[in-house]
Amino acid sequence: MTNKKDDFKHKLAHFYTTEYDAVFLEDLNVKGMLEGRGNARNKAEVGWRDLIQTFEHHGEKNGCHVLTVDPDGTTKECASCGTVSEKPLWVREHSCPACGFTAGRDVNAAYNVLQRGLERLGVVHSEETPVETATATSTDGGSSFVEVDARCVVDAGSRVLKEPAIAGE
Ligand SMILES: [Zn+2]
Repeated sequence: MTNKKDDFKHKLAHFYTTEYDAVFLEDLNVKGMLEGRGNARNKAEVGWRDLIQTFEHHGEKNGCHVLTVDPDGTTKECASCGTVSEKPLWVREHSCPACGFTAGRDVNAAYNVLQRGLERLGVVHSEETPVETATATSTDGGSSFVEVDARCVVDAGSRVLKEPAIAGE
């Protein structure tokens, strides 16, 4: 059981660190979700930290930048214009009151993770830089964190990333 999970985790990390130049993961150390002491939450937290370490290990081996970024407010911030709006957990869609940008809650968060990761990396985004992001924002089930992770990995070479520049005009 545990071995199977580990195996999948390593496969996941191996795939992304060989396929992409950079992988960004939300850093749970600074996440407010640790306030909750529930068993499911702790499990998700441990699982996520474990996954980060697996990614870092494979990243080193495969020459892929694996960075953790501050996840604070990634779900509230608009990936397009940066406007912060309150969003209860049950709201699954991001719809920006300022610029009208809409995306799935996790997708919007993933783009914010991507932007923060690129900033940390000191890279100006270009279409040629293949990167992936994963968010820990939907670890609410406490079941298999790997399933959640895989679902939240977002292809980042998308046009959405161009929109902040347009919105800033
Ligand atoms: Zn916006």
